[in-house]
This record gives sequence, structure tokens and C-alpha cells, in this order.
Amino acid sequence: MEKATKHFIKTIIENDLKKNTTITTRFPPEPNGYLHIGHAKSICLNFNMAKQFNGNCNLRFDDTNPAKEDQKYIDSIISDIKWLGFNWGDKIFYASDYFDKLYDFAVDLIKKNKAYVCSLSSEDIRKYRGTLTESGKNSPYRERTIKENLDLFSKMKNGDFIDGAHVLRAKIDMKSPNINMRDPVIYRIKKMSHPRTKDKWCIYPMYDFTHCISDSLENITHSLCTLEFEDHRPLYDWFLETLKTLCHPKQIEFARMNLTFTVMSKRKLQKLVNNNYVTSWDDPRLPTIAGLRRRGYTSFAIRNFCETIGVSKKESRIDMELLETLLKDDLNEKAPRAMAVLNPLKIVIENWDKNKIQQLDAFNHPQKKEMGTRKITFSKEIFIEKNDFMEDPPNKFFRLAPKKEIRLKYAYYITCKKVIKDEKTGEIKKLICTYDPKTKGGTSKDKRKVKGTLHWVSANDCINAEVRVYDRLFSMENPETSNSENLKNNFIENINPNSLKIIKNAKLEKSLLNAVPEKVFQFERLGYFCVDSKDSKPDNLIFNRTVPLRDTWAKIKK
Ligand code: ATP
Ligand code: MG
Repeated sequence: MEKATKHFIKTIIENDLKKNTTITTRFPPEPNGYLHIGHAKSICLNFNMAKQFNGNCNLRFDDTNPAKEDQKYIDSIISDIKWLGFNWGDKIFYASDYFDKLYDFAVDLIKKNKAYVCSLSSEDIRKYRGTLTESGKNSPYRERTIKENLDLFSKMKNGDFIDGAHVLRAKIDMKSPNINMRDPVIYRIKKMSHPRTKDKWCIYPMYDFTHCISDSLENITHSLCTLEFEDHRPLYDWFLETLKTLCHPKQIEFARMNLTFTVMSKRKLQKLVNNNYVTSWDDPRLPTIAGLRRRGYTSFAIRNFCETIGVSKKESRIDMELLETLLKDDLNEKAPRAMAVLNPLKIVIENWDKNKIQQLDAFNHPQKKEMGTRKITFSKEIFIEKNDFMEDPPNKFFRLAPKKEIRLKYAYYITCKKVIKDEKTGEIKKLICTYDPKTKGGTSKDKRKVKGTLHWVSANDCINAEVRVYDRLFSMENPETSNSENLKNNFIENINPNSLKIIKNAKLEKSLLNAVPEKVFQFERLGYFCVDSKDSKPDNLIFNRTVPLRDTWAKIKK
């Protein structure tokens, strides 16, 4: 169970519950992209508050813009939230289910003389709106009669006008210091089919109008959202007060989550996908839930991360290392161990019988004996990692070198006798070694010391695999800052050109043939890896590196 931290929203809810008896929250994604880890923060907050105070959390799709939304995003969002470990029971809603009611509310506003049909072009609406330092001007259409407004709005609904000909606007105050209150647009004409309501509507409500009414219709008590909506709160409250709705939820804002070395907004992620900087929304380099999952992240680690960073009003960029550390803590507990050699160097054991094959026992977890053991094959030819051998090593090189003895984990002590090289290139082709039969299992009775223990796999009994080694997608902590003045905010230029390295001929111990996608293993001494859920095939195994054991990013950070 992840820890439950105290934060200001929890305190507010605790106090409110002294008056109220229940709490209802909601997570309201717009289905215009995949969820990212920033969304996970909001998901954890909304679902956990409901759970801790015995309330409900609704899942509501804010599907009011058919131009950008798609069923495939709805499906991915549902699957990602489930995977994260949250459940909404039958409380799944769509803003589009409220289109009839929203229309009636808009008519109600017109009847109250609190909304009007405006026929300015969008460009003029912008001009009339003013700026932060300059107040706005009333639209020449602001004083249309209620009757005329009702008639025009009904015609907008019936499809009598082309896109952009008219909009419906709330009648609030063009001189308000808060630009959101300067007669915001609440309905626009968009002759476009909607994924759910199909061709029933050709006018669609805007976010600010839809959101507060949807909250109210669902009897939400606490409407938790990110800080950019703080300036929209007066509008949220204005709609509900003016319409005298039965339920008036409390909107509370918190800071968005940002992470180093990545970008978070769906618009930017969309750009990376559409321009093929990554392969898809679930590319393991992206901070999307689907990408992290495919990469081998556990839902526990993501929930734990969201809980650990807490909830506050202050924007910050959290260090990716924190997420990785929490992931490694979790994987260290859960991941079975296995042996794999990414860059193989062959060793021939001179004094081992050519035909002899031996099955040795290896622990699946060094500290958790309950995770059992497995058999690994030892044979005359084995592979070790290329960089575990040096012909002319420095003093503190505790791995293999000519005349040196090391331990092969779970197997034997071996000593390097000879280095075989390619005659032309000088490249090391293989090593000839001897083994000590009295060191079976990797221990010696005479207590003689060997400094190094290496991982290895049998060359006669291993599997080949492709291993995708991922690095950070961006080479700067904040990819949104730019080095070159004229390319300000172009995060694309900060993409790390080496974010994916493909190793074609890795050698894996045979037990990994049974690895299921997304199930993470610790490859001894290397890091955590899992079978890729999308591209791996039985005859073409592909593993993703989830995260290395040690921090190899340090150099990129400077
Ligand atoms: P983006 O800016 O990435 O496109 P969004 O806010 O437009 O995100 P929505 O689908 O509207 O995406 O978001 C659903 C909910 O998730 C909202 O309540 C939003 O405040 C919250 N959310 C989005 N991004 C973050 C983030 N980085 N940290 C915390 N909450 C977030
Ligand atoms: Mg949004």
C-alpha cells in the first residue's frame, strides 16, 4: 500500500465533511490524446480522496470538441485508468450525454437576459475583448432582445447558419479585470459529426460552460483541477449561481506535475507522434501511461510517485530520478532475476568435456528465497559481456583479464589462459579459459578470494533477442527552454538523438523464453527489462530496458 500524505486539499475536504456527509469527485479527461503521468497525479488525487472519505469518483469524458476527439482515445483512457488500479463502478459519464440539458441551460441564460447571440467574427471578438491592461468593449450585438436571441440560437441549433456566423455568449462584464468574465463564448457552430452524438448537433458548448454544469449534474462536491483554471473559477461560480443549480461544487486548484527531461502536454506529445519523433502514443520513451507501462513501469511505482510528490499550489519540475528511484525500489522487490549478455564475448572452457551439459541452480531472488530457484545450463562455450574483459586492465579492474580468476555466478571459478584475436583487425574473438571443478555453484572450500563475479549465459543453450535500450527523450532538464534565441520554445530541437539504441544480438538464458510482455526481470548487473508488448514475437523476441541499475544519466545532465 502506498503511503497517504496529508495535503491542503485533504484538509479542506476533512473540514467540509463536518458539514456534508459525502464526497464526490471526478476525473474529467478530454479524449483528444493518451493520458500521461501528469494525469496520473490528478487520477490518484481524485480517486484516493473519494476512497479515503468513503465517497465516489466519477470518470467523465469532456467530449465537447469533435474536431479533436476520437473513440480510440476514449478506449485508451479507460484501459490506462484501470491499469493504474482505479475503478469507477458504473460511474462513467460523457459531457455529450448532457448536450440536451446544456442546451436548455443556455436557453435559460438567454431568458434571464444573461446570454446573447453575437455575430462578430472570431477576430473581432478577440479585438473587442481587450487585454490584461485594457478593458474590453461591448459587442454591437449585446443588446439583442431576448426574443431575437432565442430565435437566433434556435436557428443556430437547426443548422441554418454556417460555421462561425454566430456564437452564443454569456452577458457578464466586458470591463472585468478578469478576461474570462468578458462575455465568454459558450456555444459555437461546428458542422461536424461527433463520435457519440453523430449528426444530432451542429452547435457545441464550450469547456467553461460544460464543465461546471456537468459537475453540478453529477452532484460533485469537490471539483479538483489544475492551477490554470484558477482564473476561470469566478466564471465557474457565475454560471452555477446565475442558473441557480441545485448543486454548486467547490472548485479547488492544485499545481500541475512537470517532470525533468520530458514534455507533458498532449499537444506536444501529439506533435512528437505525428512527426514520427517517436513511433506511437505508447512509445516507451514517452511519459504516457501506455508508454511507461510498455516500458515496464509498475502501476504501484506510478501511484507511489504521485503520493510522494504530494499536492500543492506551487508549480515545479520534479526530478525524473525520483520516479526512477521509486520504480527501482519496487522492481528490486518484485522482479525475478535472470542472466543476459547484451554484448557477447565467447569463452571456451578448455578443460570442460565438449559434450557435457550441466544444469545448475540459480536463485530467482537473492533475498527472497520464497521466489524459488531455476535451472541454468553450463557448457563448454559460454558468453560474457565484452566489457567484462580487458587485456591490459588498470589496477582496480575486478573483472576478467589474462591470468586472472573470477567467479561465474552460480557456476564456477574460471581463469583466463589465452586471448584469440582476429589476425587482420586485432579484434578479440574469444577467450580460452579453464574452470576449477572444486568451485561448483560459485563457491570454493579453500576460501580463496576472487574479486569479481560475472554474469554469463551458455552459448549452447541460450536465446537470441533484440534489446531496446532507451535513454531520455530530451537532453535538457527543461526541454521547453531553448539555446537559440530565434527558436524559443521549440522543444523539438532538444530531442536526444540517442534516445533509442537497438542491440540486435543479445544472448539470454533460456528461461526467458517464457517471459510474458510487461513482466519485468532484473538482468543481473545490467538493469530491469521486459518483453515488448507490441513488437515482440515468439521467433523474434524483443526486450525493452525499463531502467538501468545504476544512474548512467549523470553525464547528460550537465
Ligand atoms: P494537457 O495540457 O496535457 O493537454 P489537459 O489538462 O488539457 O492536459 P485534460 O484531459 O483536460 O488534459 O485533463 C484531465 C484532468 O487532468 C484535468 O483535470 C487536468 O487538470 C488534469 N491534468 C492534466 N495535466 C496534468 C498535470 N500535468 N498534472 C496534474 N494534473 C493534470
Ligand atoms: Mg484540456
